[in-house]
Amino acid sequence: MTPLSELTNHQVRLARRPVGLPTRAEWSFTAEPVVAPAAGGVVVKTLLLSLDPAMRGWMNDARSYIPPVAIDAVMRAGGIGVVVASDSPAFAVGDRVNGALGIQEYATFTDKQVAHGELSKVDLRAGTLTQWLNVLGMPGMTGYFGLLDVGQATAGETVVVSGAAGAVGQTVGQLAKIKGCRVVGIAGGPAKCEWVVKELGFDACIDYKAGPIRDGLKTHCPDGIDIYFDNVGGEILDAVLAKIRRHARIVICGAISQYNNTEAVKGPANYLSLLVNRARMEGMVVFDYTDRFPGAIAELAGYLKDGRMKSREDVVVGIETFPEAFLKLFRGENFGKLVLQVAKD
Ligand code: NAP
Repeated sequence: MTPLSELTNHQVRLARRPVGLPTRAEWSFTAEPVVAPAAGGVVVKTLLLSLDPAMRGWMNDARSYIPPVAIDAVMRAGGIGVVVASDSPAFAVGDRVNGALGIQEYATFTDKQVAHGELSKVDLRAGTLTQWLNVLGMPGMTGYFGLLDVGQATAGETVVVSGAAGAVGQTVGQLAKIKGCRVVGIAGGPAKCEWVVKELGFDACIDYKAGPIRDGLKTHCPDGIDIYFDNVGGEILDAVLAKIRRHARIVICGAISQYNNTEAVKGPANYLSLLVNRARMEGMVVFDYTDRFPGAIAELAGYLKDGRMKSREDVVVGIETFPEAFLKLFRGENFGKLVLQVAKD
């Protein structure tokens, strides 16, 4: 193994705050020597990074559930790596670990960060490294707690999920089927729609790019919608609101259609449907459920093992491709969970 002192850490930093869709000019590329961990610390070599729509929000100087990424800081990102140096009894060289590694080749964790549980070991018996960023990772946890805790999904109910072929959407739809619901996905394009129906077992999927969404909802949800798991917001949310049933639950997970707006976010015009239908709309943030992740991971790993759940990841190679790879999320070019491979395991 190359000694630590001979390694260079290539990094991607936030150079300035974007307006609209981020361009390459929003990023700067730096290189630093890799240094040995301080007492109780750990150095991790990045293998895979999770590219998430939320990263776009972290680039804005705005109040949110997490502070914005500072200008000139390494861009925040979750990922999986391998421990290459450790002064901590909790981690050994060679351990595969999950944590907020950032868009860089090597991440250093202090003893405090280790003590706060900012790194966790990845159990390869439960799933592959990419599955640990998908169904067994943050998106899977979002789908699990959003559908079951916030959405209170019950057998026999009709669930609609947007972003159906994406990371969160694929877990939501498959889990809802396992729990006995009827599931209608919403996705962009025939290939994604065909995949969620034929491969993942959704009952139907509406291609929102092919025609008015309300027509698809009329066809596939003739008796209305009990749960809408919203990943996209905007016009799709409005169309669904017009079709909800009494006591429906709308899980506000994300609103990707609005993340690059240069004008004000488009709110739902049909919100009085909540009143008429005694329905509720509730936001959720996955990090509120971290204490319960182990139980959810064990359940989802069981479904992956017995074949009731599939997972699809879209892997892009090379840290230098990050600025363009990230945009795939907003152009609908990712098919499954978007992952950036920084180094081979
Ligand atoms: P993803 O679905 O894997 O990728 C994003 C997808 O969004 C794209 O592939 C595209 O699919 C769709 N999309 C992009 N622009 C769109 C538009 N204008 N209208 C409709 N669809 C559009 O991403 P993900 O990681 O699973 O995240 C999905 C949502 O969950 C995001 O809103 C994210 O912010 C949110 N999220 C929230 C939490 C939380 O704790 N609340 C945690 C994780 C994720 P099509 O090709 O189908 O258009």
